Amino acid sequence: MRFSDSFVTTLRDAPKDAETVNHKLLVRAGFVRQLMAGVYTYLPLGQRVLNKISQVVREEMDAIGGKEVLMPLMHPKENWVKTGGWDKIDVLFHVKSRTDKEYALAQSHEEVVTPLTKEFIRTYKDLPLSIYHIQWKFRDELRSKSGILRGREFLMKDLYSWHLTQEDFEEFYKKAKEAYLKVFKRLGLTAKVTEASGGGFSEKISYEFEVLTSAGEANILYCSKCDWCVNIDDIDKYKEGDKCPSCKDDVLKHSLASEVGNVFDLGQKYTKAFDFKVQNEKGEMVYPIMGCYGIGITRTMGVIVEKFHDEKGIVWPKEVAPFDMHLVGLNGKGEELYNKLKENNIDVLFDDRDVPAGQKFADADLIGIPVRLVVSDKTGEKIEYKKRTSDETKLIDFEELIKMP
Ligand code: ATP
Ligand code: MG
Repeated sequence: MRFSDSFVTTLRDAPKDAETVNHKLLVRAGFVRQLMAGVYTYLPLGQRVLNKISQVVREEMDAIGGKEVLMPLMHPKENWVKTGGWDKIDVLFHVKSRTDKEYALAQSHEEVVTPLTKEFIRTYKDLPLSIYHIQWKFRDELRSKSGILRGREFLMKDLYSWHLTQEDFEEFYKKAKEAYLKVFKRLGLTAKVTEASGGGFSEKISYEFEVLTSAGEANILYCSKCDWCVNIDDIDKYKEGDKCPSCKDDVLKHSLASEVGNVFDLGQKYTKAFDFKVQNEKGEMVYPIMGCYGIGITRTMGVIVEKFHDEKGIVWPKEVAPFDMHLVGLNGKGEELYNKLKENNIDVLFDDRDVPAGQKFADADLIGIPVRLVVSDKTGEKIEYKKRTSDETKLIDFEELIKMP
């Protein structure tokens, strides 16, 4: 992509109402624009990052057998009345048509996916089944001041699974937990797994995937010697300074964290609400056990910015960077290299703008693509190569460049 043709400009100053690093940097670097509190437009660079994150999530969900679909955002009121969510879920947006018909805006998709799968699953032979989509959600959140970490409209991957027995569910639950850890690792994040009560969904245990960051809203206690971690927002059994109940090797530390994903055991709550029964091996009709598994795609993008930035701007991990390389052309140079990189399937942002060199360098740091290349009168036949994470530059030729890791 040519910078001159991207329609986006960078900003020297962050918006006045921006309180968090992700909000400030993503707006300044031209990844997003806020339409109103909690609602954002994703510009070409931002959209590329969302696609990269979604693709990692998609690959890991496909690897555990998830089937990708796309479910609607506007739901009939009846489905939400059936589960009690219409009155009980405070973040659910209610919409009225001009003929006074009422609808819900998707805050989650159990109310759509359960009647959908009921149509196709008849006997135990059709189980287990897991279905997911990557789709927007709407939530009437009271506070939405932490940039894209808490949106009133946000992108989520939600997977749902159905099982004949609790044992089968537990087996898949374990696989999904492992897939989640793979996802976050590939995205460059360390996610701690906390155990928490299922909140509004059920009384069963759920697991939350938390990334330590001061921009997060969850309060967790964790052990730095082992994996033990707990969300203390509604648990008074543990406090900071207590000995780790698992390894007993260290004391518990407190941190704020952001929940990037979670997995819930839904039991038979939704299958019962929609009278969704299947025939078991003995010919009896039973309600399948259901699980749901969410990952906040837009929130994860925000968390990555909170974790990976310096005073100059964002420092994207390779796997989610909007481009592989950022080519700064000076003295009218760069056209030939830009075309050669594209021919070699390297995704490159080419700064071909007619602006001072200093501004091009500052924007390259602000945008945060992992590799910066410069060609100018000074570099001659060579290319100046620099990683975003280092101050060291070196002059290399094209053959060396395309062999770089
Ligand atoms: P939180 O406690 O942060 O409100 P939640 O328990 O309501 O999260 P779920 O309903 O389980 O979250 O949604 C699954 C995932 O979607 C969360 O783990 C989080 O990553 C993301 N998510 C939830 N609410 C928001 C939001 N308002 N904005 C952005 N992402 C969100
Ligand atoms: Mg919530």
